Amino acid sequence: MDDLNRFCESIPKIELHAHLNGCIRSSTFRQLLSSPTDQMRFDTLDKEFPMGDTHSRMANFFEKFSLLRSCITNLDDIRRITHETLEDFISDNVIYAELRTRPRSFQNGAIAASSYVEAILETMQEYEDKICSRLILSIDRTQTLEQAMETLKLAEKYRAQVVGLDLSGDPNVKSFERLRPVFDLAKQINLSTTIHIGELPDEECLNENNLIIDYKPTRLGHFNFRTDDQEQRVLKEQIPLELCPTSNLLTMNLSDLSKHHFDLFYKNKHPLTICTDDSGLMYCRLSSEIFQIVQTFRLTKKELYEFMFQTSNFIFDKNMIEFCQTKLKNFSEQLNLF
Ligand code: 5GP
Repeated sequence: MDDLNRFCESIPKIELHAHLNGCIRSSTFRQLLSSPTDQMRFDTLDKEFPMGDTHSRMANFFEKFSLLRSCITNLDDIRRITHETLEDFISDNVIYAELRTRPRSFQNGAIAASSYVEAILETMQEYEDKICSRLILSIDRTQTLEQAMETLKLAEKYRAQVVGLDLSGDPNVKSFERLRPVFDLAKQINLSTTIHIGELPDEECLNENNLIIDYKPTRLGHFNFRTDDQEQRVLKEQIPLELCPTSNLLTMNLSDLSKHHFDLFYKNKHPLTICTDDSGLMYCRLSSEIFQIVQTFRLTKKELYEFMFQTSNFIFDKNMIEFCQTKLKNFSEQLNLF
């Protein structure tokens, strides 16, 4: 078991679903919380998170995000979070990471959203020789069409390092239909898209799943709750899925990983990637997420290697596929794996 664990740690890894601020180290989050009241709120939310059904866990999770958002107040904070996130991924042997974040301004607009994006991109650039990182800009489900359009414009402006557009935020807000024009424009300019889908077990959410699948984004996130028909459509269309074991387990309220939909899609040879979602808030690392999957579904080292290799085909920066595959090949040759 130890040997397999070490293998999961040392294999070059690809992270495709990581919300930048959700990657915040717990120690940093605590330092940024300015008042004792906020610190108490954080502790209570942390303690209560594992309790209740999907809806209450989601509500808890999003309250924590709103607390976090209120205590990130300047560009130095976001530089620090980016810097620490990249350090953490590097120490876990992640070679390529797509981080996603919702652009925001500070000080009532005096510091523009473009400065927020630039601060992240500059920090990423500093690490380019240690980790290849790219940015996906997130549109939040609560945003207006105009705000979403601004995000698309930012993505265009920083196209060299911004590789895609994401839809995330509170899944109780069903807004894909309203925001679709922005995603249609993204397609027109060949900007890749990834959309959170099927995060709640309610009828409205299942209805929205159909609209999202009709749109056919480049990748889909989670897909926890779905109908048989939706499952078949995604399988048939071969839309790659970003699966986040710890996060999915918590929000789906599953007792153990053996019931996770990884099994079904893996058996169908569906394009898949294993990711962390919010490594800081979920207290997880990519290697441990992968280890849990490998252990639960009894993948061999060879199968894991092949799995990671196929993941490299779904990265948004197509220029870096060869880089990822070469790193993986070198790794297997060094270990004389096969
Ligand atoms: P940020 O965009 O501020 O860098 O990252 C945090 C944000 O990502 C949260 O406020 C939330 O909107 C979004 N997010 C993080 N995890 C999830 C998730 O599992 N599902 C959804 N729908 N949104 C998430």
